[in-house]
Amino acid sequence: MLVKASQYNFSWSMNEEKKLLIYNSFSTRMIVIDNKHSDLLDKGSFDINELADGKKFVAKSLLKKGFLIHHSIDELKVLQFSSQKYKHDTSRLSLTIAPTLSCNFRCIYCDQEERNRPAMSKEVEDAILKYIEDKVKKLDEISITWYGGEPLLEPDILINLSQKITALAKGHGCECVFKIVTNGYLLEPELVAKLKELNIQVIQITLDGPPSIHNKRRKLFGSDDDTFNKILLNIKNLIKNDIKFTIRVNIDQTNVEGIEELLDILANNGIPKNSVNFAQVYTYTDACKSAAHTMMSTNEYAKIEPLLYEMMVEKGLMEDFTHLLPKRKSNYCGADHIQSYVIDPEGDMYKCWSDFGDKNIRIGNIVTQKSTKEEKMKHVRWIMWSPFDSEKCIRCKMLPICMGGCPDLGMREGKPHCLATQYQLEKIIKKNYHQAEKISGFWTM
Ligand code: SF4
Ligand code: SF4
Repeated sequence: MLVKASQYNFSWSMNEEKKLLIYNSFSTRMIVIDNKHSDLLDKGSFDINELADGKKFVAKSLLKKGFLIHHSIDELKVLQFSSQKYKHDTSRLSLTIAPTLSCNFRCIYCDQEERNRPAMSKEVEDAILKYIEDKVKKLDEISITWYGGEPLLEPDILINLSQKITALAKGHGCECVFKIVTNGYLLEPELVAKLKELNIQVIQITLDGPPSIHNKRRKLFGSDDDTFNKILLNIKNLIKNDIKFTIRVNIDQTNVEGIEELLDILANNGIPKNSVNFAQVYTYTDACKSAAHTMMSTNEYAKIEPLLYEMMVEKGLMEDFTHLLPKRKSNYCGADHIQSYVIDPEGDMYKCWSDFGDKNIRIGNIVTQKSTKEEKMKHVRWIMWSPFDSEKCIRCKMLPICMGGCPDLGMREGKPHCLATQYQLEKIIKKNYHQAEKISGFWTM
């Protein structure tokens, strides 16, 4: 059988021995091989059956894990195929809905300028239901993310619409999941009891540091009251009610020093493992440019993030580093999917969370079901955005686990937005190799 090396192999020497750690971003497998076998990954196409027995055994193992592939396979085309298939899959509907753009917080980096617009009207609620009703027969999965503003300022809209969407989905054997992105302040026991009846997959809550930092960055509107401890209490109530949540920590130069104290507080309060995620603060729009001077560059952030996760392991908030292993993607996010929309309280439709409320970039309205030619073209641009149009991405070995990065940033910046992972990959893979070696003895050859 004719085989060739995958174009997505990374290899790093292991300092202590004459060995190479090989990682493949297409199969997302890793292996350690003796240096003397490295020629198998450099020699172009060859017939595996013509190798001597010892080499043949190694080559077959490399083939099984995707480091070698059948000579006919064009991995780039396979990636392109799976990206196209995902984008045009009409069996899934994904809606991010903002029942209000108002917020009870005034966060220092927030780009949601429009805070005093009316909540979603009954007319828009009905239009959303009608839209789902028209599609549901052909759907296998509906995913709803409640977003804002602060979506829990309008709990009745959130709960009523969720119940009606669930009933519609159930009636047609369609899977339906809900997520909520909230600042966590209003997640009080009475509301949590109501949310428990909905099929909530996860609630994402932001904590940006210990109280001394969080309370300055994420302030209540018109008050200097402590927000941190109220949110922590609410999170503990979620644990009691067995509702899954993640804590997002936005990192920039002004809070990084306080993260250890935050992790200590979380560990002492019984936060379950793998519940904390870090994210680089990024300015998506002009509205949040005021926070730009405190941002870290992707390179700076990439150096810091693994140290933060190391701290998580030390403090028992993460079991090991497997959580960080990159996964193969069809697309970077849902924004370039044909049936993925963001809907604001007036029924205006967008493709991405960061576009909320900016009427200039809407692609239509769910009530009128009408779009201008320009709006239709904006939608087409989103769907047609592709890392396969970029020479840099086509040649990049990160492509299967990156898929060109955030399309919104890519379109705004006129080039694909590379991920922090590219600077961290070796560290993450080596950490996982050492972890695997400690647990079970890693397979080397
Ligand atoms: S396009 Fe970028 S900002 Fe928008 S949802 Fe996707 S990843 Fe997020
Ligand atoms: S965005 Fe950057 S890291 Fe991602 S595939 Fe393209 S070139 Fe590679």
